[in-house]
Amino acid sequence: MKNFPKEVGDVLRSFKLDPKNFDGAEILNDVVGQRITTRLKVAQGCWRKSSMARPDERFGAEVNRLVKKNLYKILTKSFGFEPVPYGILHGVRPTKIIQRWIREGFGVTSQGVIDRDKICRRIISDFLVERNKAELLTEVALRQLPIINRGEKKIGVYVGIPFCKTRCLYCSFPSNVLPAEKIIEEFMAALKLDVEAAAATIARYGLEVQTVYVGGGTPSALPEKFFAEMIELVHKNFCGAGVEEFTVECGRPDTISEEKISVMKNFGVTRVSVNPQTIHQRTLDFIGRKHTVEDFFRAFKILRAAGYWKINTDLIIGLPGEKFDDFKETLEKILELDPDDVTIHSLAIKRGSKLQMRLSDELNSLEDFNLPDDSQVRLMARHAEKILRDENFSPYYLYRQGYMSGQIENVGWCRQGAEGIYNVQIMGERQIILGTGAAASTKIPDPSGGKIRTAFNPKDLKTYLRDAEKYIARRDEIFAAGSRGFCHETIYR
Ligand code: SF4
Repeated sequence: MKNFPKEVGDVLRSFKLDPKNFDGAEILNDVVGQRITTRLKVAQGCWRKSSMARPDERFGAEVNRLVKKNLYKILTKSFGFEPVPYGILHGVRPTKIIQRWIREGFGVTSQGVIDRDKICRRIISDFLVERNKAELLTEVALRQLPIINRGEKKIGVYVGIPFCKTRCLYCSFPSNVLPAEKIIEEFMAALKLDVEAAAATIARYGLEVQTVYVGGGTPSALPEKFFAEMIELVHKNFCGAGVEEFTVECGRPDTISEEKISVMKNFGVTRVSVNPQTIHQRTLDFIGRKHTVEDFFRAFKILRAAGYWKINTDLIIGLPGEKFDDFKETLEKILELDPDDVTIHSLAIKRGSKLQMRLSDELNSLEDFNLPDDSQVRLMARHAEKILRDENFSPYYLYRQGYMSGQIENVGWCRQGAEGIYNVQIMGERQIILGTGAAASTKIPDPSGGKIRTAFNPKDLKTYLRDAEKYIARRDEIFAAGSRGFCHETIYR
């Protein structure tokens, strides 16, 4: 099979073209000054397209973008492929591009006013994104600006609890079906070591925790006594006076109990998520969540009755067997509960998920899973946008993944003031995120916006239990290497 560069593979996959079917094709690029010309040679002939780089682009980034742009134009204009919503914008965090432009002064008038339309036009022209998506990206990027960073020594802390009651069909997270008590005890011991070492690192560099996010997996899948122990450990080590947000994911509603709610209240949790994904039992059964629709409504009600915290609910567009009316009904019923935050995901067929493995098995095809097609998925997303806006929600964070239904995006919606700060910081990649627990990642961005130093805790539970100390040491190394920047960060407000 021909080994195309990544940027070429990205474009081919946008049109659901398999690079391995392009064995006879040649894609050649000439770079002359700021101009890049791409030629696609196949048996039927040769097609050519040229584009000019922008003066403010970095060499390398511009080559990558223009090769994609040229090829995309050849395939849509000369071969008749249907344009896709995000054109050649393939990254996970597209809003970061807009925020970088603004930091560099693009789209900012001499009076400091941000020209939204100019930014939108550039997104459309540079990345061939549809106008409504360009507007969505710009809106999210600008809404995040006052939240990103907010203090040079403030950091976010992530705590990874890698357990769930069962594994969802589409899950690619490092979740383990809840193991025997002895393994949970070993995990708690490793986590304690990890969390206490992280607290020492925070103190050593004089950093201040702004947000704490306990995710996974499903942290609330831990049995009562371990859950209480974990929350107390996290609170004791990370929740100082400066903490603005303490989030705990309780995704699976059947893991939520009055006792766990009481523990979270006692230790000052400010944000929780409980995720129905859909309110249709047949779908829940098919995707292997093993809880009922009633479990969700019960869990939401007791969480709401407990008081003061913000509640997020995740929904998925594009689930097997679901049609427009199914999603419409799910959204209606969820909004009747008046959640603070609604995250609309588009189903992604992710590597490592049971869904992807079953699809790569010759005996299964997309039809066997009765997945809605791209046009239905886009219709559902448009409907969600309209209804949420009518209810005064607006988008505040957005990310994309490979192989998403409809080739759209995941969007967090909330009313003004209910933004999840951690969600914004993790997308902005301007703040240090210190990861503890299984599969957690630590990221130390360079203050100038360049390189990000990273350290990853292992996804595999056994490795985490065996080698926790080794991973703590690796995290300390990147803190030592990155510490020069902590005091000199230029903050965009
Ligand atoms: S609840 Fe989330 S983490 Fe757990 S199996 Fe399902 S998708 Fe994976």
